[in-house]
Amino acid sequence: TLVEFMATIKQIDGRSVHQIQSGQVIVDLCSVVKELVENSVDSGATIIDVRFKNQGLDSIEVQDNGSGISPANYSSVALKHYTSKLSSYSDIESLQTFGFRGEALASLCALSILTVTTCQEEEAPKGSKLTFHQSGELDSTTVVAAQRGTTVAVENLFHNLPVRRRELDRNIKREWHKVIALLNQYACILTNVKFSVSQQPTKGKRILLFSTKGNATTRENIINIFGAKTLAALIPLDLHLELKPSGTRSSDKSASNSHDVRIVGHVSKPAHGEGRQTPDRQMFFVNGRPCSLPQLAKAFNEVYRSYNNSQSPFIFADVQLDTMLYDVNVSPDKRSILLHDQNNLLDTLRTSLSELFDTHEDSISIAAS
Ligand code: ADP
Ligand code: MG
Repeated sequence: TLVEFMATIKQIDGRSVHQIQSGQVIVDLCSVVKELVENSVDSGATIIDVRFKNQGLDSIEVQDNGSGISPANYSSVALKHYTSKLSSYSDIESLQTFGFRGEALASLCALSILTVTTCQEEEAPKGSKLTFHQSGELDSTTVVAAQRGTTVAVENLFHNLPVRRRELDRNIKREWHKVIALLNQYACILTNVKFSVSQQPTKGKRILLFSTKGNATTRENIINIFGAKTLAALIPLDLHLELKPSGTRSSDKSASNSHDVRIVGHVSKPAHGEGRQTPDRQMFFVNGRPCSLPQLAKAFNEVYRSYNNSQSPFIFADVQLDTMLYDVNVSPDKRSILLHDQNNLLDTLRTSLSELFDTHEDSISIAAS
């Protein structure tokens, strides 16, 4: 009966809760790559090497030359909600790091075989190799030869979630495409990191897919990743948008001041026939954080189409604004971002983009005449 059914309400055991939540943080191959790369960036690395075996189905390994992890933190590094980056909710507003929730390593322990090899400056040439239980508790520590930095290896992703593992196997081609597009984004925006990505098939030699030089401009990164031909078809993007207050609620302080937003990057020339671009060559960032901004993408594409409706543009756009003006804590994978006063921003963006394309159209027709 219904009464009996309701009487059975009880708390899910901790282990199951951990499993359920982990599956929301690490949803696919992209989430693994994203979390590991962002941890490396947060550690202050200037070299990041991403290595796949069998397109990640066997393993994903990210090696950096960052700070390393202190031995005092070995036992808590993969515990849920243990982080060195945030201690209370209010810190989120001024956040400078990619990570802040202390969920990635914990989730990876629940969904894969995780190994962390780490070494701080003063310990080199000795480091430690750490293994973990599914709960995130430290299982073993072994002394190994190592240089300053951290290597995180994720093997057998989703081995204990059979449905998701099957989906991953089945969709690996599409997943792999997304992973490479994501890595392209990090490699492009990280001007002070020497970034490399390689893949080793089940049978055969390791192949370097792309790399950047470190200490390069975004222009140089684009050349290294997409080629000089791609760069030649781009114009620099540097829009200064002054957003007037929309002033609906006087109690909301942030809405009563006008604020500046800068959009910096590169975009296709409006001219026809400059080379076809595919949708994965549209990259958006908020203060250097790769994220999906569908509304912004739509505005760019629509304005571009009014100049050139035969192709879609290459877009590399970093939206630079005060950390008070957006919220990254919207979705577990932090890809979605809530922008303050987005409609106002989009209107202003459309106007400035048109102005930019107008000046370039002029210069093209003058050159042609
Ligand atoms: P978060 O990034 O939100 O703090 P994570 O689970 O991704 O949570 O990482 C937990 C902690 O492990 C981090 O706060 C950091 O102290 C440490 N850590 C993880 N990866 C690295 C790395 N590559 N280099 C140095 N420290 C790391
Ligand atoms: Mg992290």
